[in-house]
Amino acid sequence: MKILYVEDSAAAVLVMRRRLSNFGHEVVLAKNGSEAVQMFRLEAPDLVLMDIEMPVMNGFEAASRIRAVEATQRWAWTPIIFLTASDTEENLITAIEAGGDDFIAKTVTEPVLHAKMRAMARIAALRQSLSTANQKLEALASSDGLTGLCNRRSMDSRVDASFADAVQLQQPFGLLMIDIDNFKKYNDHYGHLQGDDCLRSVAQAIAATVAIDNAKAGNDAAFAARYGGEEFAVVMPMASAERTAKMAHALVDAVHGIAIAHEKNADWGRVTISAGGSHLPRASGTIVNLFREADSRLYQAKDRGRNRAELLLVSAAH
Ligand code: GH3
Ligand code: MG
Ligand code: MG
Ligand code: MG
Repeated sequence: MKILYVEDSAAAVLVMRRRLSNFGHEVVLAKNGSEAVQMFRLEAPDLVLMDIEMPVMNGFEAASRIRAVEATQRWAWTPIIFLTASDTEENLITAIEAGGDDFIAKTVTEPVLHAKMRAMARIAALRQSLSTANQKLEALASSDGLTGLCNRRSMDSRVDASFADAVQLQQPFGLLMIDIDNFKKYNDHYGHLQGDDCLRSVAQAIAATVAIDNAKAGNDAAFAARYGGEEFAVVMPMASAERTAKMAHALVDAVHGIAIAHEKNADWGRVTISAGGSHLPRASGTIVNLFREADSRLYQAKDRGRNRAELLLVSAAH
């Protein structure tokens, strides 16, 4: 495991560092409490092994600050073990109150130190697998089961956060709503299962188009979501009006391009989408207005014959 070892005495470091390395651990060193807090942020160690008496900032204060860092970063609890010359009752209580988990005397024998480190390594492994499982759960909870796109719930929270940023930084913001044309007829004609396959393929085409556009823009700000049923949204923080419009047309072309047969879709004979877009040159107000406008443009696209994009681009002056 990766151990953040905090000790001001060079002589103590010499001994302990060699012991820990011999046990097979990676050791990162800090010379006082203040350095320890900084290193903790940078290195995200599995264990903190810390002296109490140190210049600049002592071990107890460093432990409280490390716990505060964990609270803001939503990291799981990292074990902190204090090292001290005097294993008094009072020291032990203060150590636990400061956010420490255990206490080792500096005079500890090698076998006892080794055993303690093995126990800590077990905890570190558990924490690692918990955190991996959490990440997987989070990914599952935020993606749509059928298409793998961002689901409605996670879109809502991402969109709120990115729109708030855009308002604060006075950045442009684009939004597209997409709906598959005559999809009810597709289901009726080809069956619901093939309808699901079709939804997956359309989602893939949308995601690929967004990815290409993000790559051109040099960031990954824009994202696609399954809005519900056979409707999708593409959220485009920081995108210019031109980029938003280009994206809308590129999406319509992309879905037309994958040429999924759809005999009942007017004269095209393949699956098509309609898109409606809205854009603000400087984000203000609430995102609800953008959704409303994009939605009404989408209806316009349907009215004007489908397989097309309509956009409302609000002028820069207001
Ligand atoms: P329009 O061109 O006006 O959009 O016509 P439409 O038939 O696509 O519009 P409508 O909203 O009436 O139909 C949407 C259809 O999408 C109805 C529903 O059966 C189908 N649908 C929604 N979600 C799913 C899904 O998860 N799987 C499948 N296979 N079909 C779905
Ligand atoms: Mg010391
Ligand atoms: Mg619909
Ligand atoms: Mg539809």
